[in-house]
Amino acid sequence: MTKTIEDLIPDYLRGLPMYVPGRPIEDVERELKIVAIKVASNENPLGPSPMAMEAVKGALGEANRYPDGGTHRLREKLAKLHGVHEDEIFVGLGSSELIDLAARVLLRSGKSGVTSEGSYAPFSIAIRANNAELRLAPLREFTFDLRAIAAKVTGDTAVIYLANPNNPTGTAFGHAEFAELLARVPESVLVVLDEAYVHYADRVDMPRSMELTRERKNLLVLRTFSKVYGLAGLRMGYGVGPRALVTAMNKLRTPFNVSGLGQVAAVAALNDAEHVRRSIEANRAERNGLHEGLTALGLRPVRSETNFIFIEIGPEANAISEELLRLGVIVRPLGWMGMAEALRVSVGTAEENGKLLNALALVCERRAGKSELASR
Ligand code: PLP
Repeated sequence: MTKTIEDLIPDYLRGLPMYVPGRPIEDVERELKIVAIKVASNENPLGPSPMAMEAVKGALGEANRYPDGGTHRLREKLAKLHGVHEDEIFVGLGSSELIDLAARVLLRSGKSGVTSEGSYAPFSIAIRANNAELRLAPLREFTFDLRAIAAKVTGDTAVIYLANPNNPTGTAFGHAEFAELLARVPESVLVVLDEAYVHYADRVDMPRSMELTRERKNLLVLRTFSKVYGLAGLRMGYGVGPRALVTAMNKLRTPFNVSGLGQVAAVAALNDAEHVRRSIEANRAERNGLHEGLTALGLRPVRSETNFIFIEIGPEANAISEELLRLGVIVRPLGWMGMAEALRVSVGTAEENGKLLNALALVCERRAGKSELASR
């Protein structure tokens, strides 16, 4: 019998889950004919850096030209900022591209990759997409357990993925713990430290990650322009790590991976210290208010170091998220990530958080009413 394309797709890809993004506002508004807010994808509710927007407007006229395929201006700026060499920086389509490329460079059948349960799904997907064995350590109190991670490492392990702060739980580990992990893990294992939310962390002992990239030959630190800089739609991220890895990732990436508009926006956003400061301060104030509001509703939010909050809400998490959707509030149920009893909500503007809390209060009230009726 002749084979079809479907037959040619390897088994390890057939079984792979697809990353489920938060639902776009327009989608929900069209389907339900309502006005909605989205607090599902941990975006910056203050918008893009104004300086980045200006820079993009100025660069639009160059859109007929291919961008700088070597991202020289941006890498030069980042090298100065972090005190590293330009050759140790890879610029990608969000940090997502780097998560994928690191795995493509280092993993294959016979190798293993380690991450944690209850962490960012693309880590597991990247490991499995390369036919490597996925090893998951358990979370401890919603936080990466770095000793459990180290215990999963064997001779065939090539990559460890960590998110700090973690998505979706919002917790963070400190410098001493991370330094201990690095000391335990052989230099032949790449440690990917994804710091997408690092700007929002209040913990004072966050890992001094860039300093560690200068000391360790097996550390790749990921950063993104999607969060505090407000440029998620332009898909810009970068990593700082070993030259050999950066060189190999450059060979695998597509020739002009990041756009010219993305590059000028990123350079301008790095100069826009005021937008970063405002974004962090607004997030801190709103995050505290949201945490208190959720607690007052009798819910159990996990204290967050990020721009979102994780709530263990019970077996009805999915149904609650559907009810919220109908009230015009898009949150993120986490069942597809193996956390069927949890929701994640992003910290929005004061108005958005108010709408979220009102909607949640209504849903909780309705549910309490229903269970009272049922018990009569
Ligand atoms: N890493 C973590 C932990 C995230 O939560 C996200 C996005 O939500 C990303 C990476 C992806 O970011 P980017 O937009 O840079 O691809």
